[in-house]
Amino acid sequence: MAEYQRPQSEQDFDRNFKQKKPLMNQTEAFTESSRCLFCYDAPCMHACPTHIDIPLFIKQIHTGNVAGAAETIYDMNWMGNACGKVCPTQVLCEGACVHNHAHVKPIEIGRLQNYATHQVMSSGERLFQKGRPNGKKVAIIGAGPAGISCACELCVLGYDVEIYEAKYKPSGLTAHGTAPYKITNEEALAEIEYLQEQLGFHIHYGVSIATEAQLQDLETRYDAIFLGVGIGPTSSLHLQGEDFENVIGAVEFVEALRFKKHHIQMPQNVVVLGGGNTAMDAASESARMGAERVYLAYRRSKDDMGAYSFEYDLAVGAGVQGVFNASPKEILGEGKATGVRFVQTRQENGTLVEVPGSEFVIACDMVIKATGQTKMGALLQQIRGLELDASKRIVVDPGTFQTGNPKYFAGGDAVNGGAEVVNGAYEGKQAALGIDQYLGV
Ligand code: SF4
Repeated sequence: MAEYQRPQSEQDFDRNFKQKKPLMNQTEAFTESSRCLFCYDAPCMHACPTHIDIPLFIKQIHTGNVAGAAETIYDMNWMGNACGKVCPTQVLCEGACVHNHAHVKPIEIGRLQNYATHQVMSSGERLFQKGRPNGKKVAIIGAGPAGISCACELCVLGYDVEIYEAKYKPSGLTAHGTAPYKITNEEALAEIEYLQEQLGFHIHYGVSIATEAQLQDLETRYDAIFLGVGIGPTSSLHLQGEDFENVIGAVEFVEALRFKKHHIQMPQNVVVLGGGNTAMDAASESARMGAERVYLAYRRSKDDMGAYSFEYDLAVGAGVQGVFNASPKEILGEGKATGVRFVQTRQENGTLVEVPGSEFVIACDMVIKATGQTKMGALLQQIRGLELDASKRIVVDPGTFQTGNPKYFAGGDAVNGGAEVVNGAYEGKQAALGIDQYLGV
């Protein structure tokens, strides 16, 4: 039975996709910041991939220096606002907060971070300055969290930066692939605008860098190139029926939902295949769009899922039903999916095996595949000297993020295989420092 009514208007959509981390008001921020113990050697700070000085910015909020708090955040993380909303804080900074040891609710670090950064963004208060021009130019491929962070850091260091983005909007997965109840499009885009307005990097939209000739042209015109290309479309499962019209990749589904909102036609019965965080997002969103029944089918056990347990709980809370040890064998139908045929699995001596005679069918009128994404191998193979690992991720120096081709640096999902926005932000910034070291200006 559906927990959510089908949204008929933008207001309905916003109600169904109510923000998980709503913006704090001044009183809430003051009260919450007063609970912080301002720990020496704060564990929250070590748990943050970008190592923001969390006790310092919380103290700044508490003493009314909100712009100073935002500056402390941006000093380490150019995606400070987005990360406050989309980071899995439960397993990062908030998960490490000392209050957990006393079974007291941890400090709401993400919401406080969002409070400070939102305030400077909405007031337009300027915090950054482009560095004195050093005469060097850097091209960035991809305007996702890694590319934007790299651009910001380079601009502060005095580089002339141009970004090439295949889509018509920036921010990569923050705006295109994150569940709408984590961050709105407006918020994701407002942060890029805020940074761009002060730092002056240029973004060429609708320009897909795909050929060797294009890469060679960039190599001629720029002193260094940063690859923030992310990962590609949803991988194929090589199942019969996968090409049916109502079989869609999870990332493609989330992207369409974020931009079309209530105009998406959501069928009654949905099967989501996968056990990662993207699968949880897709299942939860299907339920919030008013689907009557949403099944989340995973071929291994519940404990084996790659998703955070709080993401699964969120999906279940939205009305999603988990089906475990169910391996998809075929998508049934004629041109249109009408069901998925599964076989049950079990572990035998550490190996997943199919249980003979255990096949069953779940009827549905939409299948969402959340079973991983392809890598940008075709583009990357055209770059001389670039090394890829067995999973087709770019191999980089862990300190400088320089690739096997010294002119190219890389960060984000193309390097880490698909992680959080905060990891992309960290890697983009570190790569900018690596570029600066390489160019030696
Ligand atoms: Fe404050 Fe918790 Fe961090 Fe300590 S661990 S500084 S209480 S947020």
